Amino acid sequence: MAIPREIVEQILQAAHIEEVVGEFVTLKKRGSNLWGNCPFHNEKTPSFSVNPARNIFKCFGCGKAGDSAKFLMEHEHYTYPEALRYLAKKYNIKIEEKQQTAEEIMQQSIREKMFNINEFADKYFVDTLWNTEEGKTIGLEYFRERGYFDPIIQKFHLGYNPAKWDAFTEHAKKNGYSEELLEQIGLSIKGNNGLYDRYHGRVMFPIHSLTGRVIGFGGRILTNDKKSPKYQNSPESEIYDKKQTLYGIYFAKNAIARQDECILVEGYFDVLRMHQIGIENVVASSGTSLTMEQIRLVKRYTKNITMLYDGDAAGIHAALRGTDMILSEGMNVRVVVLPPEHDPDTFGKEFSTEYVSNYLKENAKDFIRFKTELLLKDAENDPIKRGQVIRDIVETISVIPDSIFRITYVKECSRLLDMPEQTLTNELNKILRSKLKKTLGIEDNVVPETDTTTVTPKQEELLKTSCLRVIIRSVNW
Ligand SMILES: [Zn+2]
Repeated sequence: MAIPREIVEQILQAAHIEEVVGEFVTLKKRGSNLWGNCPFHNEKTPSFSVNPARNIFKCFGCGKAGDSAKFLMEHEHYTYPEALRYLAKKYNIKIEEKQQTAEEIMQQSIREKMFNINEFADKYFVDTLWNTEEGKTIGLEYFRERGYFDPIIQKFHLGYNPAKWDAFTEHAKKNGYSEELLEQIGLSIKGNNGLYDRYHGRVMFPIHSLTGRVIGFGGRILTNDKKSPKYQNSPESEIYDKKQTLYGIYFAKNAIARQDECILVEGYFDVLRMHQIGIENVVASSGTSLTMEQIRLVKRYTKNITMLYDGDAAGIHAALRGTDMILSEGMNVRVVVLPPEHDPDTFGKEFSTEYVSNYLKENAKDFIRFKTELLLKDAENDPIKRGQVIRDIVETISVIPDSIFRITYVKECSRLLDMPEQTLTNELNKILRSKLKKTLGIEDNVVPETDTTTVTPKQEELLKTSCLRVIIRSVNW
């Protein structure tokens, strides 16, 4: 459906570029413009500028420039109509919705259709939770019993899908949504007796994109049925890429930027609980192990990540996974381990906001220090295990891009491991050198260690790029 020309102009005028961009990029005022790190290319010093007077953005690094709609098309991969609709919603401008013809519906992009059906489903689940007998007595009661207050249930659009096998599917079909789309987006599943609800009898957690659109769902079962998984999640689709998604990012991003810290937890309820007690810079990787894309998502807002994990062995193990990857992105990683009987949800339920904040502050441990102490405890006095611990720790230190940080860690670990600093440095250099060779494509047995004359111009070029140069400087050839 075409948006009338005068409405398009009205939307573009109403949209303040600094507000639109500010949803995604942390901007700081300098002179008459605002500046931030460009979201379109990798950089450490801001060359991305926003000009409120002219209502445009421009990056002096990669050259990308344009108005609010252009920014959204580049950043969110929206089509032009999608970008306009987003802005219209943000600035409360009504786009006259006339009845769509069959042809117009056909022309809608598949992405738009998927967003629409998810929004439709989201409304249905929320409405069922609050306004039906089954929703209230089973779904709402479940949340309240776990200690969640109505405002947080509303804020996160928690919902309920009735236990009847095809309650939602029937409702959606009656409203003109095709079986094909329902199956494609994963709200329904095709069985022997036709289409049925993926989430029947579950409480619902919509998963929001950075811009607050519903891209998928998680549904938790309420019975003790051992045959069904505790959580059902949307399959991936054109609008839902699990490795690029963090649960709660839409609600947390402003707090993350403001506090210059992101707290990472594991589950939906951990996020809800922290938000309920007023700690809002919290997101969850929701079960999957952390990905590079998720880390880069956080990195748009802050370089400081605090991982908050359960106090049991599994929680501590989880804290170790994926962390080398965070370090390699140049992020500062700290770990907080809760008392053994707690997870973030129960901890936030039992204690006051003040107590929780203080606990986080006092128990946040630098990751490498955390890992060293933990592994050492495991190794005790076993010399073989100790040797492994040392290699493991040095391996972790080697992924840190900043050479000064690396040196600092070598010093600290030499103390913790009771090892001469030089031994660790030698080990570190060995790892760095072999990594560098791998990057440059030099076989270990082809080039003697001290011979750098065989470096080709292309390799020279590679050497000039930041990270590698840092490595080279600190290697004793
Ligand atoms: Zn740029």
